[in-house]
Amino acid sequence: THFGYKQVAADQKEGLVADVFHSVAAKYDVMNDLMSLGIHRLWKRYTVDCSGVRSGQKVLDLAGGTGDLASTFSRLVGSSGQVVLADINYSMLSVGRDKLRNQGRVGNIEYVQANAEALPFPDNHFDLVTMAFGLRNVTNKDNALASIFRVLKPGGRLLVLEFSKPVLPALSKVYDAYSFHVLPVMGQLVANDRESYQYLAESIRMHPDQETLKGMFESAGFEHCRFDNLTGGIVALHCGYKF
Ligand code: SAM
Repeated sequence: THFGYKQVAADQKEGLVADVFHSVAAKYDVMNDLMSLGIHRLWKRYTVDCSGVRSGQKVLDLAGGTGDLASTFSRLVGSSGQVVLADINYSMLSVGRDKLRNQGRVGNIEYVQANAEALPFPDNHFDLVTMAFGLRNVTNKDNALASIFRVLKPGGRLLVLEFSKPVLPALSKVYDAYSFHVLPVMGQLVANDRESYQYLAESIRMHPDQETLKGMFESAGFEHCRFDNLTGGIVALHCGYKF
């Protein structure tokens, strides 16, 4: 049946995503810097600037991987706050935990292996949920948005940083060439792993554009939804509130 087919495809996606992140975990940070020419740091800084996070708050960095955002939030919420770095992938989580411990980020940060589609946290718990470059890997994005909505406090904010659709056709062409031709070769040369970076390019191509994702936020119940294009729409930051 159609349903049966979709089910198989979904299972395969989960397995594929797991393999990709197990295999890139050790080289993830250096590849990030290399592939984005360091610009991912600016995108993440912009995300933190938009977070409105304050001392004492509870923050969930979902699909947090090696913990760049979680590290900054741990500093900002202070000892009375709480940061949870959650990721489905044990390899990414342990690379992140080692990195943050080496940075001295301890005491207010916890590590949880969890699927964004079924978060193991109480209702109305977090002031802020961030998800950077994670949503496009999730099999059922609507389930993930519903699950995030549930764990946010009323008044809480969701920020999703994700690849999106470049606004200028010319930029789109250059960017396509870069992601389909340059990225897999870089993956091969630096991480000896062409396929994972091929997957990266394909998953970016498949991800919903700015307006579609905004509509998905609204369907999940988020309000005052908006997005900012960064680097010409190569990346977008979507923001929504639970009231
Ligand atoms: N947020 C980090 C950053 O911006 O550097 C890591 C982003 S990395 C490209 C994507 C992460 O999403 C991986 O660590 C992967 O394991 C995680 N992920 C994929 N599917 C997930 C799911 N269903 N639930 C939670 N995390 C997931």
